[in-house]
Amino acid sequence: MHDALRAAAACWASWEARVRQQPVTPRLSNEALAARLAGYDFEAPRDLTALTRDVAELVEQGSLHSTHPRYFGLFVPGVRAAGVVADTLAAAYNPQLGAWWHGPAAAQVEQRALGFFRERIGLPASSFATFTTGGSEANLTGVLAALASAFPRFARDGLEGTRAALYASDQAHDSFVKIARTVGLGERAVRRIRSDARQRLDVRALEHALAVDRAAGLVPFLVVATVGTTATGAVDPLVPLADLCARERLWLHADAAWGGIALLSDALRGHVAGIERADSITWDAHKTLPVPMGAGMFFVRDRRFTEGVFSVRTGYVPSTDPGTFDAYQQTLQWSRRFIGLKVFLTLAELGRAGVQSLVDRQAEMAHRLRALLREDAWTIANDTPLPLVCFTRDGLGPEDTTALVQRVVAEGAVWISEVRLPDGARWLRACITHHEVGPDDLRALVDALCRARARAIPT
Ligand SMILES: *Cc1c(COP(=O)(O)O)cnc(C)c1O
Repeated sequence: MHDALRAAAACWASWEARVRQQPVTPRLSNEALAARLAGYDFEAPRDLTALTRDVAELVEQGSLHSTHPRYFGLFVPGVRAAGVVADTLAAAYNPQLGAWWHGPAAAQVEQRALGFFRERIGLPASSFATFTTGGSEANLTGVLAALASAFPRFARDGLEGTRAALYASDQAHDSFVKIARTVGLGERAVRRIRSDARQRLDVRALEHALAVDRAAGLVPFLVVATVGTTATGAVDPLVPLADLCARERLWLHADAAWGGIALLSDALRGHVAGIERADSITWDAHKTLPVPMGAGMFFVRDRRFTEGVFSVRTGYVPSTDPGTFDAYQQTLQWSRRFIGLKVFLTLAELGRAGVQSLVDRQAEMAHRLRALLREDAWTIANDTPLPLVCFTRDGLGPEDTTALVQRVVAEGAVWISEVRLPDGARWLRACITHHEVGPDDLRALVDALCRARARAIPT
């Protein structure tokens, strides 16, 4: 066991030491990977230490590397030792968190960590918080709590033919489409409200849609405010949405899967003011802190609604200790792993100021990137305080944008993506997700763009 763990640690240390000289993109094709895996027939036993080295190499050569500081990607941060060590310990001790009494240390560690985030949001101590597999499970939980709140018989009788509708901007995360299908609402129940020129939900358009839909017999029950859209980092107008939901008696769910990052910085948190008025909140630790996936978080102001959806009576789980709660009675998961240790250990190691400086550094790097791009005749296309930069330039059409991004990615020195907007516009997108991005990495990005443009010129 020691040898295998030492081998795993050595592989990772070696990767960390070499990372900036390595391509961000996979080196092995799918065919090459399949050929190597054909050597695994699972017939005879093999030595664990040798296997450890082999699979580490396989993953290293066959991945798009989110742990690479030149991955300007999709909300997958790098990882730090605290998170890796914590996940190893969580796997080794494997406490069962489904019931508090089964893993009291783990249950308390998780609640302690969640308390830190609850305080940053500004929710009362009476609110309920849990770690989830990710933002999708947290959003699903928010939708279910909203249904239980709006329709008191929902848990027992379902929707009984009510045409319930939820409202989200055309920039909201598509997990809500999956959720609407999963819970039986159907995707047409997701009413997409147009966003404004800064990709923020248009509150006027929402008011209008509510009136029209009610007149047509629909029953609105939920408004989703996206705090940091996946495409451009836009933050929906939280205070007007909270006011509207209070007036119209609608549940407000804040999807801050990535945008929660602003709450970790005193300089940025003002940009998400009003989030504390939401009835429920999604916030992914695995998108906003350097911890491995999956570590989502879900917060709900009034725990009665999640309890109403998830509580069951079993004949085989011993009953709980007074003053504690069992997660399987409050959340979707039953058996659950020790998700929160990596978050707890990261917070404990860095401290509040350390966490804040990681986020402030990412924001600072985004500012620098915007300046570098402007110097190089690019136009900054989005408007967000968060470290996500969308850009374009004069004369660059939608197809040119796609081709340019493809050339950058094919070269492999940096990784960026494109975003497509409802009006047909296409932008390049670079998100500062890694905590160790430095000026040289930004330069590498701008240089890669320059090379890709040069290759675009027909000879
Ligand atoms: C990523 C994301 C989600 C989904 O979260 P997962 O952790 O990937 O399940 C939901 N909402 C937003 C705004 C996101 O960016």
